[in-house]
Amino acid sequence: MEEKKVRKRIPKESKVRAELQKEINSCCPFCSNDDVGHFEIHHIDENPSNNEIKNLILLCPLCHSKITKGDISNFDVLKRKFELVTTPLNIDKQDKNSINFNAKVGNAIIGDNNKVTIKKPAKMPKAKYPEGCIGYDTTKANYIGHLIKRYNEYKEYEIGKDGMNYGAFGAVLKREFKIAPTRTIYNVPIERFEELSFYIQGRIDKTKLARVKGREHKNYSTFEEYKADVG
Ligand SMILES: [Zn+2]
Repeated sequence: MEEKKVRKRIPKESKVRAELQKEINSCCPFCSNDDVGHFEIHHIDENPSNNEIKNLILLCPLCHSKITKGDISNFDVLKRKFELVTTPLNIDKQDKNSINFNAKVGNAIIGDNNKVTIKKPAKMPKAKYPEGCIGYDTTKANYIGHLIKRYNEYKEYEIGKDGMNYGAFGAVLKREFKIAPTRTIYNVPIERFEELSFYIQGRIDKTKLARVKGREHKNYSTFEEYKADVG
């Protein structure tokens, strides 16, 4: 059943609007118009109820209508938004080129909200894995978890939270690596760890966000870097 999309108003004085205005340096990100009092908020994923800051861009009414008419493509909007959040103006410290797109609006509007954060690796499920499985090796298992999470973050940026099925990618991996449905991806034999890592890395590189960021952008740590990081 499709959820009804409800437009929640974003008042002109709101912190979100102030944040978006700061992000564009009070100029329309497409035409440099600076009549910022009349600017409008565009929902990048076209879901009016998704008021997460990463889904919003403030722009002049003319450029807003160009987006609506398709004269400015969704891809260009996504690209522009990405450029805005990655400008030195908005990022104090670009740690390993990784940007936290998971920030909730509530967090995103407090203080140095656009600060880059590296989230702690997802905890492994508590299940016991037999020797010879990736799940038996905590570091390797956590690295796989880290890659899967990164894939979902990139995918979420592309299709929005509402469209996400967070378990879907795990199912794809299990099929690809011939793991029974009742088991998990951590049941993959340890000899196939590299193969599994490369496969997920390749899938991350093929996401729209990875392509927007460009080839020189680093989308994930290598296993060696990851190991060094978690100590
Ligand atoms: Zn404009």
